[in-house]
Amino acid sequence: MQRTRLALSLLAMAVIALGSRSPLGNAAEPASGTWLQDWRKANPAWRALHLIGPQPERLGLTKELITTLMVPARMNVLVLEVNYGFRFQSHPELQCRGLDKSQARNLTDFCRQHGIRLIPLFNCLGHQSWASRTGALLTKYPQFDETPHVPPDNKGIYCREWCPSLPEVDKVVFDLLDELIDAFDADALHVGMDEVFLIGDEKCPRCRGQDKGELFAGVVNRLHQHLVKDKGIEMLMWGDRLLDAAVFPYGSWEASKTGSHTALGLIPKDIIMCDWHYELRKDYPSVRFFQQQGFRVLPAPWKKPDAAVALIRCARQDATDKMLGILFTGWSAGGNGEHLLAAWKAEATPGADQATAQRQETGRQIAATIRAGLKELDSEKDNKPLKR
Ligand SMILES: [Zn+2]
Repeated sequence: MQRTRLALSLLAMAVIALGSRSPLGNAAEPASGTWLQDWRKANPAWRALHLIGPQPERLGLTKELITTLMVPARMNVLVLEVNYGFRFQSHPELQCRGLDKSQARNLTDFCRQHGIRLIPLFNCLGHQSWASRTGALLTKYPQFDETPHVPPDNKGIYCREWCPSLPEVDKVVFDLLDELIDAFDADALHVGMDEVFLIGDEKCPRCRGQDKGELFAGVVNRLHQHLVKDKGIEMLMWGDRLLDAAVFPYGSWEASKTGSHTALGLIPKDIIMCDWHYELRKDYPSVRFFQQQGFRVLPAPWKKPDAAVALIRCARQDATDKMLGILFTGWSAGGNGEHLLAAWKAEATPGADQATAQRQETGRQIAATIRAGLKELDSEKDNKPLKR
């Protein structure tokens, strides 16, 4: 009797174990972990779209963009640049407006229902102001500013940056990143870090005279420690500050003249490098370079179809298993992608009225770039598909 009971209980345990096991993962894993494993199996190449500045009242347009453009075009990643456009609960003193947690999670769920991985983007270090408007962090905490001597209207600089030598900044910023990860149930985060020019300013008492590559790497490494090692998610960043403008034929925007490029040898190789290039060039050697250095790469075009095609052809050449796919940037496409959506629908409807506004024009250019880029991507010339 005892033996029978033992056998029955063992059998019951085995049935429970079998029934609870996911075909692709450990049943104890959170839902997002299992979803991510399924997503990876279904998507050997990234076909990503970036949008900046989502407005909560227009999320319906974003959903329409997803069903009208992204799903038919088999796009599978949405990099959503949120920055301070989120109602952060951990730091109400920043007085941020924008999406709330339930709207963020709702959008993530909608994306997942359509096979799309949503990755929030929060600009770190640079881009702390735009034109005369300073962002929430440095407005509330001017003591975090790398160049507090710059006039309040930001005249004479491109964008403000936070000081890379202040641990107090990390304490605030990591709280914000944690909230975004939680709200979007994110399994990856893009930390921006492009177009940093002021780092190591000679008037900053903490950074003055320090190696700019080490300063830049310090920020990258602390973000990596928090996101990848502590939170267990993937980290993406723009690659321009890690390219030496003296070596690469790109100039001081797509590559660095500050000395920050030496950070490349000081940071972990599991960061995904988003290598943006918007102009038509004969070659984009950084795409190969990042792979040779051990990084996974996402080349990123913007609004010139011929440049996107050239970038994808370059990426296809000598592609290694570090080549992830493509990231179409949506600058000026509307925060919710509305101009891109309007352009996409107009192009899909012969004889439709063509709007003439500049932003509509940008939307059309981005739509044309996505069409040309995906056509090239799907052509698989010389049997060299752009995928891992
Ligand atoms: Zn500093």
